Order: sequence, then C-alpha cells, then structure tokens
Amino acid sequence: MNKKYDVIVVGAGNAGLAFACTATKNGLKTLVIERNILPGGCATSFVRGRFEYESSLHELANVGTEENPGSVRQLFESYKAKVNWVNEENAFRVIADGENGYDATMPAGVEAFADKMEELVSGSRESVIALFDLAKKAEAAIAYLSQGKADPMVMMSEHADFMRMASHSVDECLNALGMPEKAQNIVKTYWPYLGASTDKLDLAHYLIMMARYIAGSPAMPLMKSHELSLALDDVIRRNGGEIFYNTEVKEIITENGKAIGVRIDEGEIYADCVVANCFPETAFSKMMDSKAVPQKALRLANARKKGELFFTVYLGLNRSAQELGIKDYSVFLFNSPDSLQQYRSMDSFDESFVIVNCLNTVIPTASEEGTCTLFLTTMLSESAWAGVNEENYKEIKNRIAKRMIELYEEKLNLSVKPYIEEIVIATPSTFARYLNTPNGTPYGYEVQPWDTMMARIMNANNEQFVENLYFVGAHGDRADGYSSAYSNGNSTAGKILREVKNSGKA
Ligand SMILES: Cc1cc2nc3c(=O)[nH]c(=O)nc-3n(C[C@H](O)[C@H](O)[C@H](O)COP(=O)(O)OP(=O)(O)OC[C@H]3O[C@@H](n4cnc5c(N)ncnc54)[C@H](O)[C@@H]3O)c2cc1C
Repeated sequence: MNKKYDVIVVGAGNAGLAFACTATKNGLKTLVIERNILPGGCATSFVRGRFEYESSLHELANVGTEENPGSVRQLFESYKAKVNWVNEENAFRVIADGENGYDATMPAGVEAFADKMEELVSGSRESVIALFDLAKKAEAAIAYLSQGKADPMVMMSEHADFMRMASHSVDECLNALGMPEKAQNIVKTYWPYLGASTDKLDLAHYLIMMARYIAGSPAMPLMKSHELSLALDDVIRRNGGEIFYNTEVKEIITENGKAIGVRIDEGEIYADCVVANCFPETAFSKMMDSKAVPQKALRLANARKKGELFFTVYLGLNRSAQELGIKDYSVFLFNSPDSLQQYRSMDSFDESFVIVNCLNTVIPTASEEGTCTLFLTTMLSESAWAGVNEENYKEIKNRIAKRMIELYEEKLNLSVKPYIEEIVIATPSTFARYLNTPNGTPYGYEVQPWDTMMARIMNANNEQFVENLYFVGAHGDRADGYSSAYSNGNSTAGKILREVKNSGKA
C-alpha cells in the first residue's frame, strides 16, 4: 500500500472546501475529490442563454462588514481568499396572508430592526433587544463548546442562560420573554433557513442564525456563490493541495475497522484519514463494506430526520428590475402569520411558502443591462412528493412553478410572466443528481429536540464510528447553511490537526 496523502476529502461542497483550506494551510497533504466538474456543491452558478444564475445563495450569515467582520469574512481572510462581499441593507420583507396578516420590511442591524419592530408592534422593542442579548450569550456558549470543552460546572456558572434556552423551543422562549404575538411571528421569519418548526427548534440555534443575519448584515459575493468556491479552490492549490474534479469516489476503503483510503475508477488512493462531505447514510450504505459499518452508526443515521426538499425556479427576464418595479432583494411569502402553519404548508404543492430574490436590486450587474433574474424557492416535505411518479412528474413540476410565479405577481402586484426569456426549474430530483444527497436535500438532517446543534457538538466524539473517517457538511454539528458548513469544515480540520499533534506525528 502506497500512502500518498494525509487526508482525502470526498466532495468539494462548502464544508469539504473549508476543511481542505484549513488542512492545507496547516501543512496536511490533502487531496479533494469531487464528482462534478466544478467546486461548491450547492455553492455554484449556472448559465442558460444570456443569464448566469445563482444556484442557491439567498444570503450568507455572519459575513459582517469590513469594519466589523463576522466569522465567515474572518475565515476567508485567514485563508487569504479574495472575495468581493456585498452587504444587503434590509434583512427581509415578509408578507403573511390570512387573519392578522402583515407586510413588513425589516432592516438589518439590531437597533434598526428593533426600532422598526416597535413602529409595527408597539411595546415590542424591549423584548427584541433582550433576544439579541441572548443571541450573544448563545454565541459565547457555542464558542466554548466548539473547543471540545463541556465542563458542566462552567456551563452552569458561565453559560446559565444558554443552558436554559438550549432546552426550550423558540416558541416557548418568545412567550417567556413576553414578546407580542405579531412581533414573535415577524422574528420567526427566518425559520425556513433551518427548515425546522419553531415549536421544536431550540431557541439558541435559531437565535444564533437570526442574529448572524440581522446583526451581522446579510451578504453575498459580487460574482455569485461560485466566486466563493473558486476562491477556496485557489487557496487549496496555493497551499499545495490537489483537487480532482469529474471524479466520483466509489468506495471508502477500510481495513481492520479503520478508513485507509478511497477507490475511484482509476484505482485506489490511500491516506491517513478520509473526510466525507457526502451524507453519512450514503457512505455507510453505498460506499463502504457493510461489515465495516457498526450497527449503531446505521441506527443513528436512520433515526435522524432528513432535511426538507427544495424546489426552485430561476427566471431570466428581458426587462430590468427597475422597469418591472421590483424593489426588494428578498421577500418571504407565507400563507399565514403562524409559523407552525407555515411549516405545515410544506406538505402541500398548492400552499407551500415561497421566497423570492432579485439579485439585481443589490448587484445591478448580476445580469446584462435591461434584464434581471428572479430566484424563487419553496420547500416541500418528503410526504408532499409521495404521490409523484413518472406520469405526473412534469405536470406537477409545471404546476408548482406556475403557482410560485403567480403568487409573487399577485402579492407584489407585479407583472413578470410576459418578460420571461429563460426559465429553469430544479426539483428535488435535480438536487439529488447534482449533490448526491438522499432525495436531494441540501439541509442535512433536520434538527430535532433530541438532536439539537448543542447535542451534536457535545456528542461529536461519540459519533465517530469508524476510525479515521470523519463527516463534514450540512448533516454535521452546525446543521445546514453556508456559514455552518464553512464552520463545520474548519473545526473538523482543527480537530484532526490536534489529533495529529497529540499522536506525535506532526
Ligand atoms: C436552493 C437552495 C437555497 C439555499 N439558500 C441558502 C442561503 O441563502 N443561505 C445559506 O446559508 N444556505 C443556503 N442553502 C443551504 C446550503 O447551500 C447548504 O446547506 C450547504 O451549502 C451544504 O454544504 P455541504 O458542505 O453539506 O455540501 P453540498 O453542497 O451538499 O456538497 C457536497 C459535495 O460533495 C460531492 N460528492 C458527494 N458524493 C460524492 C462522491 N461519492 N464523490 C465525489 N464527490 C461527491 C457533491 O457532488 C457535492 O459537490 C441553500 C441550498 C439550496 C439548494
């Protein structure tokens, strides 16, 4: 056996790329192997006609500004990865239908957000500020836990508020804070970004995500998310790492219960460890000798609930955003102000919520002059797709896309359909083909009351079922999202580097 690498990374999604950047920066001889011809997984773009579409990114959390950088900007800077960040001044616009419905445009920035909420819901300011204070406490606790420390005495004495909120749902905590109902509903607008219902999702996780968007200003790269992935590809190569594109890992090879390398069409490649950016259950069931996979690994993978399924419509329009009267970058269209009804709407093709983004409102050069692109997203549960088969697939796909476009036109009082020059629809099957995730979910495992971010971080060591095999990605401890994937990739590299150092091999 001829070992060539310290580490082989299976997949160049956000987490795989961040892992490889930290690993190569710290001297690990690293090979990244990616099925697609491009880096990024979700984080990419594609071209149809004269339009280049952002494939997934609505907005990135925790980028911050040049003066006040967030952890994502700092991570990219630490890699010397060059990215042209663009901040969005509004957090979101939300239109909720039904009784007590509302139409609210919420600015980024804690003070501005709280002021606007007070304007919309008198008497809400104090509880909104209290919420952002709790978010800081949750960040501090997660930073402590992420160092691999979990001393119960320290947690109880220094992170008591976090311990309290980590065992309660978003709904329970917002009620306990005495926040008026309408303000609660507006505050919960971001729940689709975690894909979990607010009666089950723990407040700490939700707050960290929400505050990273609102306090840290939502951001995106000037040249779409492909700019991020290319910048990370460049870092890996500059640091001496290698990347094979258009190459699928067919097998993770094990010997005596340890991962020792991978098999691709051209042969076997060996390494000290394998880091999989693919789903654990895909690795366990399709890429490994079943005898090498412990039963408890399979049981845990099966017990977890797979994340929601995406359905996206990308439109290239032959008018500018200005000509069409499109002003908002990001609009959430819900069928109800109640977040549980919004969550349940994912069971129905005809009711699911829709998020619409127009990149040109923030980056006018996102498409040719006189044109613009729209990116419409909905999420649907696995059960919504249960009755879909080869016969009705096309009809259902067109029906969902039509409803999404018409809902946007109706709620925003705009006309879009006559100006469609290009239309691309991505269903869960499209995502499954591109990402190689179960049913195409880009969201890993949905967080559950027994499977929270905190539980995952604290149990990380117990979940390494096969020696020298690590998993990074949306299915990891930080759950879904760009910033979570970068953080998960980076912290896993830190963990391996510590292990290498402790083993005396460094
Ligand atoms: C439409 C959409 C909108 C989204 N909007 C946002 C947003 O606004 N903000 C946000 O933060 N997040 C958003 N997300 C979620 C976010 O993109 C994902 O959670 C995150 O990027 C997942 O990263 P990952 O590292 O798990 O890798 P993935 O993106 O899942 O990539 C995994 C990579 O591994 C490769 N791979 C798998 N198996 C193999 C194999 N056997 N051999 C070689 N390569 C393999 C795949 O080809 C893929 O490139 C969105 C996702 C989608 C789809």
